[in-house]
Amino acid sequence: MTLSHNLGFPRIGHKRELKHAVEAYWKGEIDQATLQSRGRALRQQYWQRQAESGLDLIPVGDFSWYDQVLDLSCLLGVVPERFGHGGGPVDLDTAFRMARGRAPSGQPAAACEMTKWFDTNYHYIVPEFVPGQRFVLSSEALFKQVHEAQTAGHRVKPVLLGPLSYLWLGKTWQQDFDKLSLLDSLLAAYGEILQRLAAQGVEWVQLDEPILVLDLPADWQVAFESAYSRLNVPGLKCLLATYFGPLGDNLHLTCRLPVDGLHVDAVRGADELDTVLDQLPGYKILSIGLIDGRNIWRNDLARSLTLLERARTRLGERLWLAPSCSLLHCPVSLRVETEMDTELKGWMAFAEEKLDELRVLKTALDEGRDAVQAQLDAAASALLKRQQRHPVAAPQEDGVRPTVARQTPFAQRKSLQQARLQLPLLPTTTIGSFPQTAEIRQIRARFRKGQISRPIYVEKMQKQIAEVIRRQEEIGLDVLVHGEAERNDMVEYFGEQLQGFVFSENGWVQSYGSRCVKPPIIYGDVSRPRPMTVDWICHAQSLTERPVKGMLTGPVTILNWSFVRDDQPRARTCEQIALALREEVLDLERAGIAIIQIDEAALREGLPLRKGDWQHYLDWSIRAFRLTASGVRDDTQIHTHMCYSEFNDILPAIAQMDADVITIETSRSQMELLDAFEDFDYPNDIGPGVYDIHSPNVPSVEQIVRLMTQASQRIPVAQLWINPDCGLKTRGWPEVTEALKHMVEAARILRAGAVVAA
Ligand code: GLN
Ligand code: ZN
Repeated sequence: MTLSHNLGFPRIGHKRELKHAVEAYWKGEIDQATLQSRGRALRQQYWQRQAESGLDLIPVGDFSWYDQVLDLSCLLGVVPERFGHGGGPVDLDTAFRMARGRAPSGQPAAACEMTKWFDTNYHYIVPEFVPGQRFVLSSEALFKQVHEAQTAGHRVKPVLLGPLSYLWLGKTWQQDFDKLSLLDSLLAAYGEILQRLAAQGVEWVQLDEPILVLDLPADWQVAFESAYSRLNVPGLKCLLATYFGPLGDNLHLTCRLPVDGLHVDAVRGADELDTVLDQLPGYKILSIGLIDGRNIWRNDLARSLTLLERARTRLGERLWLAPSCSLLHCPVSLRVETEMDTELKGWMAFAEEKLDELRVLKTALDEGRDAVQAQLDAAASALLKRQQRHPVAAPQEDGVRPTVARQTPFAQRKSLQQARLQLPLLPTTTIGSFPQTAEIRQIRARFRKGQISRPIYVEKMQKQIAEVIRRQEEIGLDVLVHGEAERNDMVEYFGEQLQGFVFSENGWVQSYGSRCVKPPIIYGDVSRPRPMTVDWICHAQSLTERPVKGMLTGPVTILNWSFVRDDQPRARTCEQIALALREEVLDLERAGIAIIQIDEAALREGLPLRKGDWQHYLDWSIRAFRLTASGVRDDTQIHTHMCYSEFNDILPAIAQMDADVITIETSRSQMELLDAFEDFDYPNDIGPGVYDIHSPNVPSVEQIVRLMTQASQRIPVAQLWINPDCGLKTRGWPEVTEALKHMVEAARILRAGAVVAA
């Protein structure tokens, strides 16, 4: 018998029931007892579904109201002081306050930081450690859920983030503080947790150590060995789970750790599976994760089976089957997709369908391929159809390849652009979107539902555009935008108009807390049947003498925020998107638009987990941006925007994008980012954000003057622009108007001498 199990299941529900319940609770519409009973119902439902798929071990502990790392902090009593937790049990409200930034009094308190979970679009709540941090079991939630699942008759496998990964992912406010110094006391707490689970009759526990796929310092590698030899609890078996990549230089170490079983990501770590098989001690279980938990494509079952049959000759009963990682990162079920093209649907597998695939593999291994021949045939024919319909795109021939370089160097372009645009020193601009008012959302919704015709929709949107143009002129900004009222989302807007994309109705994936995103699915060759933005931008430009920026989402961002076809390299798909967008850029230019912004909000987050893989990614992603941007004349100005502040380590690559102007986030960090510019002379123009759009606070004129003065100490004034950190769509008009007026006033003061003198 081959054992099958799952690492985690999406907890949001088929129709985002989790989101609706949590938000209703926050608004005071339901009480905590009701919330808890909805949670129980959701858990029961998906435990049941997993059991029906024939899983031998059902994960428990993957449920969370907000985030599983936050839950672990609560379990361990790791609650920062500002949340007023004096000891004792950490309740659900405290957890919500940590995530959402409220002191017990209801007053705002700095929320715990949130950051990306490895290279996924899921965000976890960062644990905060202090020197001498104590770890005290402070929540019964996990144990209760284990009991709940056992009572429902399931054979459960509790899932916990392992101690080393938990420590690694946390932060401390103290400098030079070695988090590993906390390991001893943390292990004692883990020991208690494991003992409690053993006492509940649990046989297997899964400890996730995804940091084993990262570049680890030597002392962390060493810590793994001592930690796991201490985590032995009699009667309880431990499956160490790794995922999101190959183990690489941690492979030998990982195979040797004193645990009963190891799970590896055999999708991303396919190449090292044989080495793992060679190095794994004879007593250990190997769980092979062959069903891709990071994507939505149907598995090539025949191929997987061949691989598994080979592994089984070496492992026998020690072979376990699982998805590559938790299914948290893919949508729940295709069952609720009623509108999607049936052929396309046949190429996909969401979380539930992935469990079904697992079952087919297990049955084939246990009973022979004949037992599941029909399913194998169906999978093979879907795959074949997909290949026939969408053959892997051939790389472009050199002769056909468009240029990826502008015609002349920046300095020359800059003077030509200046001659055309006549901008003042320190030009002021915004990032693209203006407040998405209830009215705007309503117009879009009515159009979507077919309640208003296209001409009416266009007329209404043009009115919105006219309004933002008027307001920007009144505020006195130099370079205007059209406001993006027609866009619900910066990727979806383009995905819906490009060929090769499809959208699900309910393909939601948790992003953070109650927030879910519905990534577009790129299934085929990407192309642009017709212009996507030209009419809106031209309308805006027709209303003003000042330049209006064309506004596009860049190829790398579209790629990184979508589910991408897995039958060709991502770089190839990205190149196709770039070529489609390049046409849009050229159409905007032909229509007389002098400035075109290509946002790359997600470029940085696409960086691979291992530093050794960065350059390759940067090479193709930067090339894709250049492919999009470089077809224009010298006097057309290309902008790009990135809304984050950590790119000190990739600054040279950013410079290689060769955008004439880049706008970035810096106000929250008080221009800290610009320190990087001391060592690296950024060659082109740059707008360091001076208005933190994440907060309702309005920056004062003095603040903006101060920030820009700071900036001018590192970057020549002639290279600087003045702008907010990011788009303004989540803000309200009154604050936005005031803040932008302050920006314009600060620019006037600075131009009048302050900075120029500096
Ligand atoms: N142009 C987009 C906007 O202003 C950029 C959004 C982003 O960077 N996330 O909303
Ligand atoms: Zn941004």
